[in-house]
Amino acid sequence: MVTASRADCYALDLEDPLRDMREEFSLPSGVTYLLGNSLGALPKRTAAKVAHTVETEWGRDLGASWNTAGWWDLPQTTGDRLARLIGAGPGEVLAGDSTSTNIFKVMAAALPLRPGRRVIVSDLENFPTDRYVVEGVARALGSYEIRDIGSLDEALGDDVAAVLLSHVDYRTGALRDMDAVTARVHAAGALMIWDLCHSAGAVPVDLRAADADFAVGCTYKYLNGGPGAPAYLYVAERHQDAAYNVVSGWHGHADPFAFEPNYRPADGVRRFAAGSPPVLAYSALNASLDIWQTVDMAQIRAKSVALTTLFIDLVDELCPDLTLVTPRDPAERGSQVSYRNRDGYPVTRALAERGVVGDYRKPDIMRFGFAPLYLRYVDVYDAATVLAEVLGKELWREERYREPLTVT
Ligand SMILES: *Cc1c(COP(=O)(O)O)cnc(C)c1O
Repeated sequence: MVTASRADCYALDLEDPLRDMREEFSLPSGVTYLLGNSLGALPKRTAAKVAHTVETEWGRDLGASWNTAGWWDLPQTTGDRLARLIGAGPGEVLAGDSTSTNIFKVMAAALPLRPGRRVIVSDLENFPTDRYVVEGVARALGSYEIRDIGSLDEALGDDVAAVLLSHVDYRTGALRDMDAVTARVHAAGALMIWDLCHSAGAVPVDLRAADADFAVGCTYKYLNGGPGAPAYLYVAERHQDAAYNVVSGWHGHADPFAFEPNYRPADGVRRFAAGSPPVLAYSALNASLDIWQTVDMAQIRAKSVALTTLFIDLVDELCPDLTLVTPRDPAERGSQVSYRNRDGYPVTRALAERGVVGDYRKPDIMRFGFAPLYLRYVDVYDAATVLAEVLGKELWREERYREPLTVT
């Protein structure tokens, strides 16, 4: 039995409460874009907003814009707009720097809050930069040990200061139970730091309800902030007075224009600012956040579950030889679907040439991201049928599909 026809999918698109959102995006024709989990699509309004920042705020008003256009406060005002997407309160989120840098800042702030505990729990399955930065923090602060988890319960103990985990796994799309994990970490006396890179804009997140201590995430994936857009960090209000930012730059100073010789931290999350913000990048991010302010995350989640379930069902039927590595239970996955295939790299290249853009992660994972804001049910159908054709006719076997690219 056929899971769904293209006409069925078209009918689902007509009933989709988010269907008008696609109009907000500039998507090339003939492309089924399943990589919004890596670089989100371009909002149509971004170019005009950035042009305004360049021509008017910078070109006409020059340095006055630090005051008149709110440039100085961008890390906080942008952070407050991100807060509603991750269940944070006002004044708990600061936008800026990269996720990698923010991991360093929050980890270095968290560890001294648990004096006497010398272990950082990390996950070797996490996106490598998270683990790399943990190594850097351990070196910089000295005499910290890194313990990589197999099972979380085995890793926890009264020597653990902080735990850093991704909410959604970047390779498999598996979703952790944020409330339960945070509670276990707290029961062991440690602090919990969540990486939300593959969560924000894809699944509802409620950091406050989970009682999380710190979090980080990027905005260029599901949030469509643009390549290299400012990332963000979250510091729970209860930690803000005690948490010290070791990247203690002047933008986080209590009185930056006093130009005092020594550092004094600003109140609140602002102390986690370091240097001058990339204003043009914030402008692009805020164009996208204008759209996100109107979005109901429950609708995003419902559509994400429907799209990923449809894709899994179609691929089960059309490509029965592929091994699904993403959890089948929608409650246990984010908004991506991954398959194990040792020829995943040439398959991904062959798909791209036929307009279906996904990606490949070593050693053998093909990833397909489903950004609920702008993808349609017909896109899911088209992707599954093209995948079936590429595999069924072995179109991926052409030698040129094996040539390596710099960014995969
Ligand atoms: C995408 C991603 C990052 C990216 O880090 P950058 O510093 O922004 O390049 C980090 N961690 C995880 C889990 C990611 O998925």
